[in-house]
Amino acid sequence: MNIPFYDLGAAQRTAFADIQVALQRVATSGWYILGPELENFEREFANYCGSAHCVGVSNGLDALHLILRAYGIGNGDEVIVPSNTYIATWLAVTQAGATPVPVEPDEATHCIDPARTEAAVTSRTKAIIAVHLYGHTVDMAPIRNLVERYSIRLIEDAAQAHGARYRNQPAGTLGDAAAFSFFPTKNLGALGDAGGITTNDPALAEELRLLRNYGSRRKYYNDKQGYNARLDEIQAAVLSAKLPHLDRWNEERQTFADIYLEHLAGIDSLILPKIAPDVKHVWHQFVVRSAHRDDLQRALADAGIGTMIHYPVPPHRSRAYSGADWPALPLADKLASEILSLPIGNDQTPETIRVVADAIKGYFGRRGR
Ligand SMILES: *Cc1c(COP(=O)(O)O)cnc(C)c1O
Repeated sequence: MNIPFYDLGAAQRTAFADIQVALQRVATSGWYILGPELENFEREFANYCGSAHCVGVSNGLDALHLILRAYGIGNGDEVIVPSNTYIATWLAVTQAGATPVPVEPDEATHCIDPARTEAAVTSRTKAIIAVHLYGHTVDMAPIRNLVERYSIRLIEDAAQAHGARYRNQPAGTLGDAAAFSFFPTKNLGALGDAGGITTNDPALAEELRLLRNYGSRRKYYNDKQGYNARLDEIQAAVLSAKLPHLDRWNEERQTFADIYLEHLAGIDSLILPKIAPDVKHVWHQFVVRSAHRDDLQRALADAGIGTMIHYPVPPHRSRAYSGADWPALPLADKLASEILSLPIGNDQTPETIRVVADAIKGYFGRRGR
């Protein structure tokens, strides 16, 4: 049996009819940038998150970057980021001209460790970017407490967390502003690049609307040196068509995660993902850990099972950031060498997930582990 890591077309098959209607509507509308489809999606996604505002933008990286710009964070400022994240979190900070200050994760959840976060705050810290990695929300209560004490901004990187909750409060409403990515492979994905920002702050939303559109409120009159970072009508329409499917898709991922957690329990040299009791996980990735990761990945590939590593190179080890003198980040290094993402997309079925779990059990059984 061949089980690809993620067959993106197959995963969204149940939404194809709705997507087709949306594509047709926009194609014939004669209006492609900053129009009714975007306004509609912004309203729907803000509603979905329970946030007062949503500002659609070009992608997740631009969403993070624009939030930093809107807050005036730049040269000389420090922004706390996780040591283990997708590199976009760091790129947003350096694009704004600020310095990323990496903080190591809580080993159980892979999310930024609140105690280490507090230790990293200096007089130059302007913001913390809390990344809800793999769809598991950050332990926000202690982080909210410290941003209030130090008067710094709390920004969520919710690119992997559409629909996730912390203490029953949705991702996107857990900080001052949240960046979402609607890259095709995310839990809610467009048919191309797309992103969004949620916030309850009307002034911030207004500033973001300026910045994403050349700093202009009225065509050819520019108040700010802005960007071209808009969310296209066609992508907004696709996202509106897919949003009603999101909760069902997330539930399906939970079903798959439950099968893995049940079938893979009790293997000594395999660490399963842990879920904090106050978190609703949305399983953007199902990430296991093993000291035998590379060998396991090869054995699964030989059995026709696709897996991935999110991410093989932590940002501080990437060539892009080789110039700087980063502190030792042993946890990020260790996790990068042990993590393996198993198939969990909506192209899977309970049967294929059981096949993957059995292959992993078989592998460790053969090795006597
Ligand atoms: C995908 C992702 C981003 C960037 O989103 P793009 O839309 O690809 O620019 C940022 N942060 C995290 C954690 C991501 O997973």
